[in-house]
Parts: sequence; C-alpha cells; structure tokens
Amino acid sequence: MKIEKLLIANRGEIALRIHRAAHEMGIRTVAVHSTADADAMHVRLADEAICIGPPPAGESYLNIPNIISAAEISHADAIHPGYGFLSENAQFAEIVESHNIIFVGPKPQHIRTMGDKVEAKRTAGKLGLPLVPGSDGALTGIESAKIIAEKIGYPVLIKAASGGGGRGMKVVQSADLLETMIGQAKSEAKAAFGDDTVYMEKYLGNPRHIEFQIFGDGEGNAIHLGERDCSLQRRHQKVLEEAPSPVITHAQREEMGMICAKAMAEMGYRGAGTIEFLYENGEFYFIEMNTRLQVEHPVTEAITGLDLVREQIRIAEGNPLTLRQQDVQFRGHAIECRINAEDPRTFAPSPGLVKQFHAPGGMHVRVDSGLYAGYKVPPYYDSMIAKLIVYGTTRQGALRRLRRALEEFVIDGMKTTIPLHQALLDVPEFQSGDYTIKWLEEWLAKQDEG
Ligand code: ADP
Repeated sequence: MKIEKLLIANRGEIALRIHRAAHEMGIRTVAVHSTADADAMHVRLADEAICIGPPPAGESYLNIPNIISAAEISHADAIHPGYGFLSENAQFAEIVESHNIIFVGPKPQHIRTMGDKVEAKRTAGKLGLPLVPGSDGALTGIESAKIIAEKIGYPVLIKAASGGGGRGMKVVQSADLLETMIGQAKSEAKAAFGDDTVYMEKYLGNPRHIEFQIFGDGEGNAIHLGERDCSLQRRHQKVLEEAPSPVITHAQREEMGMICAKAMAEMGYRGAGTIEFLYENGEFYFIEMNTRLQVEHPVTEAITGLDLVREQIRIAEGNPLTLRQQDVQFRGHAIECRINAEDPRTFAPSPGLVKQFHAPGGMHVRVDSGLYAGYKVPPYYDSMIAKLIVYGTTRQGALRRLRRALEEFVIDGMKTTIPLHQALLDVPEFQSGDYTIKWLEEWLAKQDEG
C-alpha cells in the first residue's frame, strides 16, 4: 500500500532525516513534538505538527496514547519511530498495527525477540551466528554461575537481559567477586529496566565493535549492506563510525555478510536491522541485534549509494527489496562524527542558545542536524546535535576531507565535541585505523594526565 502521510514519532536530526526521505518520495509528513520542541527544524518543515505533551520524554515522545491520537487526528497512514524512544518497543508496534496504521519497522515479534538479549542470543545461535562464549540463557543460581565462569575463564561480564545504551554491565575478575557482582548487576538492572534477569559472557579484553547492516522484505528475502566499524567509543557509547572497517578483508565481509543475510532471510525479517559483533583475533562474536535504523546509517549510505530510510519506507509499503545482493556495490570510505553539545574534555552537557551556525559543505560532505542560528538546544534530551559525514575514495582521502570539514564547522553559543574530533585526527592510532573499543578512553585518560 502506498503511504500518503507519514507521522514521525521522534525529534532532532533523525526526525529531519525521515522527513527529507518522505518528501523526496512525495509523502506528506506529520511532526509530533513536546512543548520544548515547538521551534525545532523538523516541526517547521513538516506539513503538519501536533504537540503531544510536556518536555519529559515519558510524557511526550514515549506517550503511546498521545502519539496514536495524533496519527488518527492527522489521518496518517504510517508511523516511523526513528531510533531510541519507541523504536524498539514491540507493544508500540503492535498497537500501531492494530489501529491499521503501517509501522515502518520490523514485525513486532522480531522486535520482542531481539529486545530480550537472552532470547536474542539464543535465536542468533540457532540461526548460525557466532556467539560470545557464555551462559546458555539467564543465570539461575550462584553455583551454576560459578561453573560457567570457570568453564569460559575469567574475566567474565554480567549483562542485563533488558539492557541497552551500554548500561547494566559488570566485569568480574575472579571467582570470589562473582556472587557480589551478580547481586549488584541484578539490582541495577531491576532499577534501570524493571527486570533483574542477567546472563554471563566471556569478557573480551580488547575487541573492535563491527556491525552489519541488513534489510529483509518480510517474505524470506534478505541482503546485507556491509559493515560499520564503531570501535571509537566512550562509556560504551559510539563517538565516531566508519565504513568499511579498516581491518576487515573483502572475503571476511562477504562471509559474515552472507551469514547475517541468510539468518535474516530464515527469520523472515522485515525492514532495516543491525547485527552487532565484537571482533577479536580475526573472530566475530554476536552481541546483539538492533531492530531499527541506527544513528550511524549514513556511512553505509555513502558507500552503497542507497537511501536507507527510503528503503525502509518502500518495504513498509510492501515492495520487494530494491537491490539484490549481487547489485550491492561498495565504493570508497565514509566516516561519521557524532557532534554533541558537551564539553570536549569533561563531557559535561552544554545545551543552550545557538548564536551562530555554519555547516561545512563541498564535495562529499553531509551534515545531518536540526540546528539553526537562534535555536535553543533543550536540556531534556540526548546531547547529540549534529552528525558530520564525509566520503572519500580512500580512507586517507576521507580523513583529509574530515579535517577540512571540521575546520569549516561553526556552532557558537555552546561547547561541542568538534575539538575532540579535530584532536583525534592528529593521533597516529586513529590515522592508521589501529584502535579498539578501549582505545579512546585510554587516550582521553592520557590527555587528562598531560
Ligand atoms: P547495549 O545494548 O547496552 O549497548 P551491547 O551488548 O551492545 O549492550 O554492548 C555494548 C558495548 O559493551 C559493546 O560495544 C562493547 O563495547 C561492550 N561489550 C559488550 N559485551 C562485551 C563482552 N562480552 N566483552 C567485552 N566488551 C563487551
């Protein structure tokens, strides 16, 4: 069914990103917003805008009855959830579909399965994805936990089944600490996610984070669009992403990509998804699957030429996949910097009034941001205010372009992480692509000492 009007249940740069894809497809858009976002760019550009509540996300962007009412009032025939907020809420997807509104996303049962990390691992294992050694399911008691830990070897990691955003993980170095740490992990998981189910994994000492973008049509066909390397992290949060990974060979991409695509085909997966792996000593280990569009999707767009939001919408309309696997071509190298309204050294949030805004331009430079001069960044939400994506025929070319684009970028009125990205460009390990998920934090600690 052709979508005529799309409600965008999100805010910030991703709401704008979805609006742009929709308008290019001739689809009208409905923005929903909290009272804090009445002046936001996506609200201004959308064909219609509906206020859904006060600033706290729980009362607005997570308020399912208000969002459904907004869709009904505006006669929207589809809802795109973006990332974060309700994007991985299976119940929301079900409610949307029960109102005869198209959910631009996976089938609710797949969101549910992959949202429970214990269930996700079990499913991934059955589908042939390589797993991090660990407990087969949730931890049930201390004695069995001890046996599993001995078997896989310390250090081990205790993770929350309902975890997300890098929270609720505990590294355990030795057997005498296991019971206490499991207790702590359980109570933290209960407080943060309302679920104290935890499981155990081998703690990998120095891996990279490499994820595969996949698309399925919901009818048993699926393709992969290669990998993204998201190893540059701080507190398990991604800071910069690149595609392709500087350490993966063409043969490894083909092999892992095909394993992922085959798994998704077997599931009957619908829409966009990302299968995340840790990569160490030449081996991939599945950690989780995200059943939504990712922040870092533009680097995949840059090297494949495919508009991923357009593809999501086309699949939601019931169309087949635009490309067959053999039509997917990877060209050049792309890098994305997440620019946050934060102090570049202390990472303290720094929201405020944008006094001047000048986005870099020129060949192969893309800025996804809702900022404009005179806009006030509200303090209630995520601190990411812009994404800068550059493309080059080679990684070195992309790095040179990134340096040039960062020089041009002006965001006056608040502290941003632009100087951090500029500093990284001068570091040999980053220049050569020789970094793991630990590297940035270690480098930052050294800067603080110096
Ligand atoms: P979340 O859903 O909270 O993001 P993930 O399972 O995706 O949790 O893990 C987030 C990050 O935590 C990874 O990118 C990696 O940096 C680290 N991590 C997760 N599992 C392991 C592990 N078994 N060993 C080492 N680091 C891990």
